[in-house]
Amino acid sequence: MKDVEAILREVAERLKDNYPYGDPLYAGQMLKPPHDVARRAYEMALKINPNNHALDGGRASSAMEKEAVAALARMIGWETHLGHLCSGGTMANLEALWVAGQLHPGKVVLASTQAHYTHQRIAGVLGLLFETIPCDRRGRMDLQALEQRLAAGGVGTVVATLGTTATGAVDPLDAIVEVRDRYGFRIHADAAYGGYFLLVKDLAAETRRAFDRIAEAASVVIDPHKHGLQPYGCGCVLFRDPAVGRLYRHDSPYTYFTSTDMHLGEISLECSRPGAAAVALWATQRLFPLVPDGEFAKGLLSGRAAALDLHERVRRDGRFVTGSAPELDILVWAPRAKRISDASALSQRIFAEAAQRQLHLAIVTLPVQLIDVQDMERDGDTIVCLRSVLMKPEHRAWVDRIWSILDAATTAAGVQR
Ligand SMILES: *Cc1c(COP(=O)(O)O)cnc(C)c1O
Repeated sequence: MKDVEAILREVAERLKDNYPYGDPLYAGQMLKPPHDVARRAYEMALKINPNNHALDGGRASSAMEKEAVAALARMIGWETHLGHLCSGGTMANLEALWVAGQLHPGKVVLASTQAHYTHQRIAGVLGLLFETIPCDRRGRMDLQALEQRLAAGGVGTVVATLGTTATGAVDPLDAIVEVRDRYGFRIHADAAYGGYFLLVKDLAAETRRAFDRIAEAASVVIDPHKHGLQPYGCGCVLFRDPAVGRLYRHDSPYTYFTSTDMHLGEISLECSRPGAAAVALWATQRLFPLVPDGEFAKGLLSGRAAALDLHERVRRDGRFVTGSAPELDILVWAPRAKRISDASALSQRIFAEAAQRQLHLAIVTLPVQLIDVQDMERDGDTIVCLRSVLMKPEHRAWVDRIWSILDAATTAAGVQR
């Protein structure tokens, strides 16, 4: 027992080497602590360590997974669905594209240049043809470019990203749905990061229009481990047509004996999966039912209000140039300089100066078109920007503090007024 104590002390020491993810001044990457109810439910389930591969491995947690996933499907607007939890957005997107590829063999998968890089890689793994569509100045899939590509033929699937990872831009899903019938492609909505914003009514009109059509996608990915207050290891893939379950068919000789019900393991590419993740999500949804503009949605709205507030302060300050106003809760900006390359170097310096003052931002390299660079000399196609994901509800009350540290860090980095 002494060994365990000593080792855990060592673990505690090692774990100190981290950014303070739970702190409101951690305003960098997409990280927030899981809710206490999720953590505790997870720990309770861990005592049993159920495996949601099959009902034999976790009866209660499998039932809870089905209920939790059905709640997500209802949030999308589906009364029937097929879906399950998985390790994260990458695996969830892989399953969605795997199904898409089987239903449209030999055809191309399209995603925007700002789609998560995982799509291109997944397409490679699955042996699917993949092409990108350029974005407009706000980082959304460019409709004209999409239509041009569709007209050339051979497209099987269009991936619409509802909330890009870099800037939180929302592809115009409503318009993509409108052209679908003309070209007969399948729509996959990657809402790994942005999906829960479905519950927030108060979004920009265009953003809202895109979310309002999500039920018309053939498949949707949402990551409860991003905005959904879950520990890592909780993604979700959902299909509108339950009949795609047939594509998962296999003849495992040893897993399923006790039930004639469809086992989760029969509709998932991953075999062993943590039942504890399902239990944690189920408990969190009991505390925060997925209702529009409910308690949980208010938390998302707070983060978005913080992002809009900080964006406005940055935009009004003569020392910065910015991307377009945040659609969700991510903002990007860069210091103004003579040349783009100077601005990029200054971004890195502000990032470091802010970190020294306990404000943790993120860095992102973006195509120059996404930033209103005004009269800066364009000596490159990309610009290194500062990026902030304000996804904790507490961020709303901390914008003043974040701004004043950013102000000091900018001065310290040598950016002229
Ligand atoms: C985070 C993210 C992914 C990848 O999900 P993981 O959970 O990190 O595997 C895919 N797509 C989008 C839009 C994301 O934001």
